[in-house]
Amino acid sequence: MADCLFCKIVAGEIPGEVVHTTQRTIAFRDINPQAPLHVLVVPRDHYANAAELAAGDPAASAELVTTAAAVATAEGYDDYRIVFNTGAGVGQTVFHTHLHLLAGRSMTWPPG
Ligand code: C5P
Repeated sequence: MADCLFCKIVAGEIPGEVVHTTQRTIAFRDINPQAPLHVLVVPRDHYANAAELAAGDPAASAELVTTAAAVATAEGYDDYRIVFNTGAGVGQTVFHTHLHLLAGRSMTWPPG
C-alpha cells in the first residue's frame, strides 16, 4: 500500500533497525521501546491486522511467531511477551499487522 509506513520499511524506502528477516517477515526495533527488547515483526505483504493475516496467509502468520521466538533467543531472552493490537480502541496505530515482541523487564497481568 502506497501510504503504509510499514510497507515502506519492508521496501527499504524509510529506515528501520532490522534485526532479522525471513522469506515472509521482517523484524525491526520499535522506535519507542516499551521494554529493553521491543521488536516489531511484520509480514512483507500488507494485511491490516493479525486476523486478516491469519485468514489470508496462514504460513506468514505462523512465521511471525517463529521469527519472534528466534529474535528472543538471539537476544538472550527465554521469557517474553507477544502482543497484537487490533483496532484503534485498544491502541493499534499502524494498520499493517505487527507482532510486538517485548522482553527484559518484569510485566504485570492484565496489561493496561
Ligand atoms: O500496536 P501499535 O499500532 O500501537 O504499534 C505501532 C508501533 O509502531 C508503536 O510501538 C510505535 O512506536 C512503532 N513505530 C515504529 N516506527 C515508526 C512508527 C511507529 O517502530 N516509524
